[in-house]
Amino acid sequence: MAVGTHKNFDADFLVIGSGIAGLSFALEAAEIGEVCIVTKKEPWDTATNLAQGGIACVLAPDDSFELHVQDTLRAGDGLCHEEIVQIVVSEAPGRIETLERYGVRFARDPNDPSRFDLGREGGHSRRRIVRVEDFTGRSIQTVLLDRVTAHPKIRLMPHHIAVDLITQGKLGFGRGGRERCMGAYVLDVDRNEIRPILAPVTVLATGGAGKVYLYTSNPDVASGAGVAMAYRAGARVANLEFVQFHPTCLFHPRAKNFLISEALRGEGAILIDGSGHRFMEKYDPERMELSSRDVVARAIDAELKRSGDECVFLDISHRPREFIVERFPNIYRRCLELGIDITTDPIPVVPAAHYICGGVVTDRDGFTDIVGLVAIGECACTGLHGANRLASNSLLEGLVMAHRAVKTCAGLLSELREISGPEAPLWDTGGAVDMDEGVLISHNWDGIRRLMWNYVGIVRTEKRLNLARDQITPMLNEIDRHYWDYILTRDFIELRNLAQTADLIIEAASRRKESRGGHFIADYPAKNDWEWRRDTILKRRLNHSSSPHER
Ligand SMILES: Cc1cc2nc3c(=O)[nH]c(=O)nc-3n(C[C@H](O)[C@H](O)[C@H](O)COP(=O)(O)OP(=O)(O)OC[C@H]3O[C@@H](n4cnc5c(N)ncnc54)[C@H](O)[C@@H]3O)c2cc1C
Repeated sequence: MAVGTHKNFDADFLVIGSGIAGLSFALEAAEIGEVCIVTKKEPWDTATNLAQGGIACVLAPDDSFELHVQDTLRAGDGLCHEEIVQIVVSEAPGRIETLERYGVRFARDPNDPSRFDLGREGGHSRRRIVRVEDFTGRSIQTVLLDRVTAHPKIRLMPHHIAVDLITQGKLGFGRGGRERCMGAYVLDVDRNEIRPILAPVTVLATGGAGKVYLYTSNPDVASGAGVAMAYRAGARVANLEFVQFHPTCLFHPRAKNFLISEALRGEGAILIDGSGHRFMEKYDPERMELSSRDVVARAIDAELKRSGDECVFLDISHRPREFIVERFPNIYRRCLELGIDITTDPIPVVPAAHYICGGVVTDRDGFTDIVGLVAIGECACTGLHGANRLASNSLLEGLVMAHRAVKTCAGLLSELREISGPEAPLWDTGGAVDMDEGVLISHNWDGIRRLMWNYVGIVRTEKRLNLARDQITPMLNEIDRHYWDYILTRDFIELRNLAQTADLIIEAASRRKESRGGHFIADYPAKNDWEWRRDTILKRRLNHSSSPHER
């Protein structure tokens, strides 16, 4: 039953999400208008808050934009949008400066405090990771949040979850031209009330979708909301088959989603199996542990399948104790709490879903197909990552695209404020009743995540993808039925988005008849992989015959 209507815009910008993308957008947008941020749990419940490694940025004298561009293109395996790569890489120093101005204290070289103490990570040919110890994300989140909370033109609304976008098409007018977004329906979780929040510009900054998988490094909020809502509203989504699996998540019954940063391998940590044998030589003898994430994750997956073990080990104990404790205080402390002293013991690790390279398709300024709808951060697909993301490029992408989107909004805002047409009706609950069967949600939630892990995981096959499709369709139908029958809760809204995103990942993976980047399908072995193996064998033979000392 409709109980009323809303007239005016509630703000100039409705930002959905309070990670690096949403908060940095809000701070800049507040210079030109009123901002409302909705975020579904506490404002610090974000992937941003968990980021350990840092932000990639060309700052070292031996580095160049060109090298960073090349490293990004190489990781992206032929699918990066080169213009976007150039833009993001070259705008990085400016964004780092802004973060410093806001108050983020990045690590400095102790011998020369005028320089950053840059970290090195897999896939990067130079040291270029700007960081705050191994809790870079937490530092950025705290600084941005403090500023947002204090800003008079920003209203931050925790425990508010966006249900769906409000578009002119859904309201039944403006047909024929481009679809236009007018805001979103939002559930106030504490009051159990859904209302429309209207704005000329709506910003999807909802982060990733790692929760689609059983094992993930992502926080609980990462349920694919941006992709699902944009797709339902008619925006294009792309590259969703490219899921990056982080090779090294802590394997421990009491460790939920704890990542062992890439930076450990950057600082010399080696991967060994249960018998203590180093195994990366079999998979990438040139780059070894510093190979790209997909190669390392598949190598570990293959080792686990071969041995039947539950985990492999990452060992940095050969580095001096003081260095380890100082460089990785967060990882050191967390592991010690669980009885693992990383200065002496190898760390048990497994791969886990980490980053979704695809998302809502945007232009070079974060604008989607739908007028007034922006997508930034992990939920967007700008073309920066292509088929696979280079480590530490995602916080950077969030910052750069937020900045560019605000700049473009500045020129469009007065035009977008001139929306005419019917007002958005308040949420109509119809004959919906309370959902008293929590088991319906937990059963489907668990079913989807297992399905995705088993059939759409690190190594895929046509057969498994078909099985996944057969199973996701009835789940989606059931969820859709419940959507109309029951009063919505946060858990149910998340489940609906999770199922929608899972379905899109399966569809995208089924359509790609090749292995590339984060999508590995055994029926179509990667041309790159074969070439790479052949080259490796040839190289070994050549080295062997031309180096008498080795015999
Ligand atoms: C453990 C870990 C370590 C990482 N380390 C690095 C690193 O070192 N360097 C790097 O570059 N990247 C790293 N990444 C990736 C990076 O952290 C993320 O890609 C990035 O933080 C995403 O930022 P975001 O603003 O797009 O989303 P997030 O920071 O995830 O924020 C998303 C926000 O959207 C909200 N939200 C979602 N759905 C809704 C909804 N329906 N309604 C309302 N609010 C909603 C969430 O509550 C949250 O506030 C790491 C990721 C993880 C998980």
